[in-house]
Amino acid sequence: MVAQGEPVNTFGQSVGRPRPAEAQKSDAPKSAGQSAEQPAVAPSSPHVSATDADASHCIGTLDIGGTWIRAAVVTPAGEILVRSRRPLPTSEGGRAVVDTCLDALGEARMRTGCHALERIGVSVTGPVDPRTGKLFTPPNTGPVLAGLELGEALSRAACLEVRVDRDTNAAALGEHRCGSARGTANFVFITVSTGVGGAVMLDGRLIRGADGVAGEIGHICVERGGPRCGCGRRGCVEAIASGPSIARRAEAELRAAQGAELRAVEGAEFRAAEGFAQTRGVTKSVEGSAAAASVAARAGEAVAAPISSQASSSSQALSFSSQTSSPLAERLRSGRPLTGKDVDECAAAGDPHAIRALDAAAAAVAGMCVDMANVFNPERIVVGGSVAITHPDWIARASELVAREALVPANREGIVVPAELGDDVSLVGAAFL
Ligand SMILES: [Zn+2]
Repeated sequence: MVAQGEPVNTFGQSVGRPRPAEAQKSDAPKSAGQSAEQPAVAPSSPHVSATDADASHCIGTLDIGGTWIRAAVVTPAGEILVRSRRPLPTSEGGRAVVDTCLDALGEARMRTGCHALERIGVSVTGPVDPRTGKLFTPPNTGPVLAGLELGEALSRAACLEVRVDRDTNAAALGEHRCGSARGTANFVFITVSTGVGGAVMLDGRLIRGADGVAGEIGHICVERGGPRCGCGRRGCVEAIASGPSIARRAEAELRAAQGAELRAVEGAEFRAAEGFAQTRGVTKSVEGSAAAASVAARAGEAVAAPISSQASSSSQALSFSSQTSSPLAERLRSGRPLTGKDVDECAAAGDPHAIRALDAAAAAVAGMCVDMANVFNPERIVVGGSVAITHPDWIARASELVAREALVPANREGIVVPAELGDDVSLVGAAFL
């Protein structure tokens, strides 16, 4: 809360001449230290201070994700001077989100010693109308942000211009100004992490579409009848290549293989009992079961006859379960949900199901890159996100596929490159909205 009589607010703006609308006292940001449940991390660049940059032109940025609100003060060149963060108040309503944004940003601003901020740029997960700063229904933050007029609320409270956009658009601008897309006017940005998203710049401008939400390239269908996506369709890239999707597929592959082998074992038992233990028949059964199981695994679903339902009627089912021990099976037996990291580690240990799930993800991303090359004819395709960055081989594979399969002359050599800015990409990019 701004102290009574104080001539400026936490952002160095006069509260007597607010813009664009009269600020309400209750909207004013808290001073540094208030409700600082999470201590701010140390300045990212300890040798850079506001006196090293043109402090009066620094930009305040916010990155609102599914768990955290991160804030920073960024120089016009894209260098983060100071950052802070707060947990996203997911159960307290939109007003609490706005207050938390102001709290985090106010702290960062004061720690830099900037007299005032030029403006505020906000990166937010999920769809948003960049013209109004109003959020739609972000899928990863629950209902707390749905319909929130974030741009207007922040602008009124901070008395600053506020620009709001989807996190992937902000990230693309960050890579364009400070990262792998420098010097290009036509590029596609792809991020592969807990979801798959992207942004497209053509002729130096981000494409936004009729409603400002263009560029959701993670929902391109690359596998008809494939795993169900969060958007409702089947076979989207996101349903195959995101971290959670990779984990689901690896588990489905394992369960499908277990189901196929179990049915083969029980079929052999039955035939032996009937006196029909003919090798040819067993082989057919195995092949048939395996084929059905593979289809189920591709669809990301458990096989119709899970091992647990048959275990009670077959003592061999239990021994089968232990016989088919693999790194992935071991982790599943622990009862803990699989993560993308688990799959990576199991694949490194040679687990075939983990390897297949990762291969499907890499193929989906590579196929998407070919489509992007054909549709947009970019100079570069920049691939970032926590999942993609941990699999550098995906970049080479996608680049080779574009060169081999994209239409001439869009099939440029080495067109797919890794992103450079890492976790800070949206926080930096929001300064360029
Ligand atoms: Zn989808």
